[in-house]
Amino acid sequence: MASIIDGKKIAEDRILEIKSNIEKLKKDHNLIPGLAVVLVGDDPASRTYVNSKEKKCKEVGIYSEVHRLPESITELELLKIVEDLNNNEKIHGILVQLPLPKHINEDTINEHISYEKDVDGFHPVNIGNLQLKRPSFVPCTPKGIIELIKSTGTTIQGKNAVVVGRSNIVGLPTSMLLLNENATVTICHSKTQNLKDTILKADIIVSATGIAGLITGDMVKQDAVVIDAGIIRVGDTMVGDVLYDDVLQKAGFITPVPGGVGPMTIAMLMQNTYEAALKCV
Ligand code: NDP
Repeated sequence: MASIIDGKKIAEDRILEIKSNIEKLKKDHNLIPGLAVVLVGDDPASRTYVNSKEKKCKEVGIYSEVHRLPESITELELLKIVEDLNNNEKIHGILVQLPLPKHINEDTINEHISYEKDVDGFHPVNIGNLQLKRPSFVPCTPKGIIELIKSTGTTIQGKNAVVVGRSNIVGLPTSMLLLNENATVTICHSKTQNLKDTILKADIIVSATGIAGLITGDMVKQDAVVIDAGIIRVGDTMVGDVLYDDVLQKAGFITPVPGGVGPMTIAMLMQNTYEAALKCV
C-alpha cells in the first residue's frame, strides 16, 4: 500500500518559508514583491484559479493586482495592458491566465510578457534557458512536481521516469526537469503505442493528460512513485488521471487529487514571484 504524498501540507510548509523570505526582503530592502494576474472572460475554472492566487498573495505578503477584462477585448488592447505591466515597477511577475478567447493568440501574448517578469515560465527565452540548464523561471506545476518527488526521499538520478503528456505547460517542462535531475526519461502522448508496457518500466510516473483513470494498477511497477497532475471534474468531485484506489495498492508513493499537485502549483507561483523581486535587489 502506497504512502500518500500530502501536497497540501508540503505546499503549506513552503508557503511559510516564502512568507518569511518576503518579510526579510521587505525589512532588508524595503521591497514588496508584486504580481499582476490578467484574466480575460469569465470562465468559471479560471476565475476560481485567479481567486486562489489572489488569496495566496495576501497570505504571503505579495502585492497583487488582478486585471479582470471582458471576453471582447482585442489582442492589441491586451498587448497594451501587458506592455504597461512590463513597465510597472511595482510589478515583478505577470501571469496571463489561460486559456484565452479564440481570437487572441496565446503565443503572441506570452512572448510579449517581459521574460524577466514571466513567473509562469512560458516565454520562449525561459523555455530555452531551461533546456540549456541556465537560470530561468520554471513553470509552476512542473517545479512543484519535482519538489513532491523529492519530498519522498527518492533519488531521481538514474531512475526510469515516464511522463505521460507532452504539453508546454506540464508534460514537456516536467520531462526536461527530470532529465536535468539525471533521470532516464520517456515521454508518452496520445500516439504512444503500448502505454502499459512503457509505464511498467517506470520507477517514477508523472501523468498529465486530463483523462480520468488512464493509469491503472496493472500499469504500475511495484513501489513506483506516482504523481498525478490531472484535474478532471466528474459531477461534484475532482479526479485525476490515476485510478487512485487501484494504484494505491501497487505504488510506493502517490499524490491524491485534490490535495496533491494543485496546491504546489500555487506555492511555486509565489516562489517565482519572490525570485523575480529578488532579482531587483
Ligand atoms: P493538454 O491537453 O495540453 O495535454 C494533454 C497531453 O496528454 C497531450 O500531450 C496529449 O497527447 C496527452 N494525451 C492525451 N490522451 C492521451 C492518452 N490516451 N495516452 C497518453 N497521452 C495522452 O493538457 P495540460 O498538459 O494542460 O493538462 C493536463 C492535465 O493537467 C489536465 O487535467 C489539467 O487540468 C491538469 N493541470 C493541472 C495543473 C495543476 O496545477 N495541478 C496545472 C495545469 C494543468 P498529444 O500531445 O499527442 O495530444
